[in-house]
Amino acid sequence: MTTIKLYNTKTRKKEVFEPLRRDDVRMYVCGPTVYDRAHLGNARPVVVFDVLYRLLRHVYGEAHVTYARNFTDVDDKINARARETGRAIGEITAETTQWFLDDMGALGALEPDHMPRATDYIPQMIAMIERLVAERHAYEEEGHVLFAVESYSDYGRLSGRTVEDMIAGARVEKAPYKRNPMDFVLWKPSSDDLPGWESPWGRGRPGWHIECSAMSYELLGESFDIHGGGNDLMFPHHENEIAQSRCAHPEGDFARVWMHNEMLQVEGKKMSKSLGNFFTVRDLLDQGIPGEVIRFVFLSTHYRKPMDWTAEKAKEAERTLRKWYRLAGLSGESSRYDPLVQALSDDLNTHEAISQIHALANAGDVNTLRFGLEMLGLWPGAIPKWAEIEGFTDAETGTISHLIQRRETARKKKDFAEADRIRDGLARAGVKVVDTPEGAEFEKLPNYDVNVLDEVWGGL
Ligand code: AMP
Ligand code: ZN
Repeated sequence: MTTIKLYNTKTRKKEVFEPLRRDDVRMYVCGPTVYDRAHLGNARPVVVFDVLYRLLRHVYGEAHVTYARNFTDVDDKINARARETGRAIGEITAETTQWFLDDMGALGALEPDHMPRATDYIPQMIAMIERLVAERHAYEEEGHVLFAVESYSDYGRLSGRTVEDMIAGARVEKAPYKRNPMDFVLWKPSSDDLPGWESPWGRGRPGWHIECSAMSYELLGESFDIHGGGNDLMFPHHENEIAQSRCAHPEGDFARVWMHNEMLQVEGKKMSKSLGNFFTVRDLLDQGIPGEVIRFVFLSTHYRKPMDWTAEKAKEAERTLRKWYRLAGLSGESSRYDPLVQALSDDLNTHEAISQIHALANAGDVNTLRFGLEMLGLWPGAIPKWAEIEGFTDAETGTISHLIQRRETARKKKDFAEADRIRDGLARAGVKVVDTPEGAEFEKLPNYDVNVLDEVWGGL
């Protein structure tokens, strides 16, 4: 079986991945708070962990991987949005959830096996909080329930901070109901105009962190294999998840491997509304940038490096993918290519996988090319509309693309006789070739004859 190695934030080492159960590899990734369109940065963890999900399914079998990613549908940002717009909370969260699924679907992301919504797990959150209170890891004060960070000696270990560092760094305000400024909210009171649920501490709503602990416990158990998210979540969110889960279920390990993607920037700068370089995935799709292109640009940088989105990269990616899709149009089936699986198994080396696909495409190895595209989630099942050539079927497009690829290789080798033979063959078949900066484009001439095309192809 393929050996997968993953970088574990917890140990700060790349480790051989050994799932707890080979017949059920379990992964949890923190999902979006649903009050607005996903920005481009939000898509990075989705794409990164989608590649990991595909790799795990390839190695352990589709039926043996369980992937859960939550929707945070109770949050003060959502309440604020409802107030500003005068719309119902449920309407906003339902609409935004669907937007998220549509936009991530356009990026080729598979839907996780479980997509729990926080508001469907309130009783489980209350049960976990009750347990923390009973075990003296949490206390009630002024209608709030707080987690006592001093009750968990490993607090801060994931991000490598001490409680003193955290207090200094976070400049936390000492709310009157907190015994220690680092203590965090598990439950807080809701006024009548805010969403709330009955609880042993009165009508209220959960804090953000508890939902991931309660839902991962419910869906994946007290010990599971992988927990992922952006590295901005490492502190405090993931530290708090660990503290809650380990204290409520000391019999378990919670997540064994922690994985964090680095942040996305735009043209070298942090994406922010004030810099005017903030945009959503939908903005790009609406500008006509195909989802496959966005995904390709993401995967060209390793997930643990900061990734820079640039318009130039998107253009380059479109040229490359157009060529690959047209070549893959000729593939009858996908055939496994081990070096590519090995590259991805090396802590998701997508950059290396893409280099290999370049080589497979240049060699005209269509079935392995298709396999590589599939592993990266870049194969939509047929040539996508934007890469099609009007008037030609996928197979014809594949044949012509191959002939052009051969002509290029022949030219590079200074085999001009071969290059001319291919050019003349295409002309005889009624295919006009126009070289453009975007690559070769072709058109059907009135004398187009697919039989001649096949003859030329067969005669090489
Ligand atoms: P949020 O809605 O802010 O909680 O973010 C949802 C997910 O997007 C989390 O996993 C974040 O780590 C991730 N995320 C947010 N901003 C960026 C960014 N600029 N680059 C990469 N990931 C991000
Ligand atoms: Zn989380």
